[in-house]
Formats: sequence, C-alpha cells, structure tokens
Amino acid sequence: MSELASETRKAGNWSTKKKDDAPRGVRRHPSGVWAIRYVCGAGHVHKEKVGPLKTDAIAGYYESRQRARHENGWCPLVERGQAKERVRADRERERRRVTFRAYAEQYIAWAKLHHRGAKTEEGRVNAMARAFGDAKLDAITSADVERFLDGLLAKRSRSTANRYRTTLHAMLNRAIRHGYLSANPVKGTTKFKEAEGRTLYLTPDEEIAVRDQLAPEATVTGRSSLDTRRGDLRPLFSVSIHTGLRWTEQRRLLWRDVDFLTGLLAVRQSKSGHARQVPMNSVVRSLLFDLAGQRQRPDDPEESVFRCPYGQPRTASSRRPWSERRKPSGMRGRMQAGSTGTPGTATGIRSPAGS
Ligand SMILES: [Zn+2]
Repeated sequence: MSELASETRKAGNWSTKKKDDAPRGVRRHPSGVWAIRYVCGAGHVHKEKVGPLKTDAIAGYYESRQRARHENGWCPLVERGQAKERVRADRERERRRVTFRAYAEQYIAWAKLHHRGAKTEEGRVNAMARAFGDAKLDAITSADVERFLDGLLAKRSRSTANRYRTTLHAMLNRAIRHGYLSANPVKGTTKFKEAEGRTLYLTPDEEIAVRDQLAPEATVTGRSSLDTRRGDLRPLFSVSIHTGLRWTEQRRLLWRDVDFLTGLLAVRQSKSGHARQVPMNSVVRSLLFDLAGQRQRPDDPEESVFRCPYGQPRTASSRRPWSERRKPSGMRGRMQAGSTGTPGTATGIRSPAGS
C-alpha cells in the first residue's frame, strides 16, 4: 500500500506540473483509485492509495498532514508496527492464560514441597478449584472471591473462611510472580471478624471426667505393662492442660528443652513453623520435677520428657462421640483436645486449628 519515496525519484527529470484536477498531495493512481502523498513527522515521504472517492483522499491527506504537524515524530509505519506488536502481545497473553483448576494443580504440587501445612492447604485449594473451576485465573474478580467466601459461611465458621481467604491470597500472589495475573482480587475483599482466639475449653467437669478415666483405679488391668503405659498419660494430660501445648509439641519435648532455672519450655517447631517458649506454672514445674526423677538416662539431654507409647491420636475420620467410646481406649482420641493452642491458657484447651 505505502512505500517510502526514494530520493532519486524526487530528483528525477520530471515535470512538476500537476496532471490531475486535484488539490495538493492528492492524485489519481495508475490503478484508478485516488492516492495521497505526504511527509510524516519523521520526515519520510509516504505514498498511500486511498480509494475511489476523491473527497476521501483529500480528507486523508489533510488528516495525515495534521498528525505529522501536531504529533511529535508521528509516522504511520511506526504506528502500524506498534499495533502489530500489541496484537502479538495480546495473543501471547491469551496463550499464557490458565484456568483456576490448572493453576490449582500446580500450586498444590509446589505447596507440598514448600509448605508445612500443605495437606490442609490442599483441601482448601481443592474446594476452591471446585468453585472457580475453569474460569480463567485473570478473569476472577473481587466480587467472585467475595461470593465464594460468603458461601463458605453456610457451613463453616468465619475463622475458617478467613483461612481460605489467606490461602487464596497467597496462591494468587504466587500467580502474579509467575506472570499469570497482574493484580490480586483477594485484596479487594475484607476479612471476616473472628471471635478472639478460637478457644475450646474443657470445663472443670470435663477435666475431672478425663482425670477419672486416667486414675489408677480406672485404668488398672492387672497387666503391668499396660498399667504403666496408662500411668504415663497422666502427666501428659496435666501438662497439656496447664501449658496448652499441642500433642505433637509435647511428644517432641526433650529434656534439653526444659529450663527449670528460667521456668521456660522451648517448643522447637510448632505448627506455625517457628520456635516459641512456654512458661511453666507451679503445677507443670512440679510434675516435670517428678518426671525428671524417673529419667532412665539422666545425662542424656536428648531423652524425651514424656514416655509416650501412643502414636498420633486418631483424627476426624475415626472420631466418634465421647459417649460411644469404650472407656480407657476412648482416651486416645480425646487427648487430641490437648493438641493445641497458645501458652498460658490454664485449663484451656484449644480446638485443633483450621477447619
Ligand atoms: Zn514515516
């Protein structure tokens, strides 16, 4: 359509007299249509065919002259190049767009390698993948996120909905880092107000009930190894009641973590992934003193504080109501009540975190 006029043609031995009955810059092209000739903002001479109507050609000529004069460095070739580049970039972006479901899959795989709580996260991500499904990641709006979170409230607590929100936020931030997304739609939503601390207490009655079940007369079977094992649960329970430690934290406690001088227990890797210190109260202190007196390897700082022959308590899938459990064996699941919480909740036992 257009080409740059070469210097030599201008210098040619041509008549400068206009052959067409047309204003400056407009002429009839040998193909029959009207054409224009003008100098762009970059100083090139451009020749373009316009069409069968002379008025269109005249209008085109003046428009090009105007732009050349007022838009600094305007050149239709450069402009066309930019438009092409834009189209290419749009296509590239379209090609890179992923669905929520596809991204969720890669996110879970990545989280398994890098996050301590990947299992819980996987459950949440899967639920979100069911909700957002094949929507393109970058098409998800704050309103969509809000609808999803509000929907959770039908069956879940506000705290849980907030955990979902946090997961989604982190997930989409990673998508931004990977170029799938330019802004995080979760930012446009607000957290639900949560009750302060998600605390589940054992009432004094419940505490007594558990202690009764652990009492020597309740657990005695006449089989000495079994009786010893059950006896070991008593200090475990009392310490959990007075410190609010999680089951796993308590099981992992070694004698080197116990500092009678400062009165602190060092909890090395708690659920959050950070170490923390938990103060001992007088009950915990005297219990641990007793346990210290019964140590099998008093010189070994790596000896566990609690002799605990039991494994991880069974969880949700095997959870039965308290009343249906056989007395002593029911203890196992119940100890999970002690799996938990922030320090200093005397007799407070927090619910297992998360949903
Ligand atoms: Zn030009």
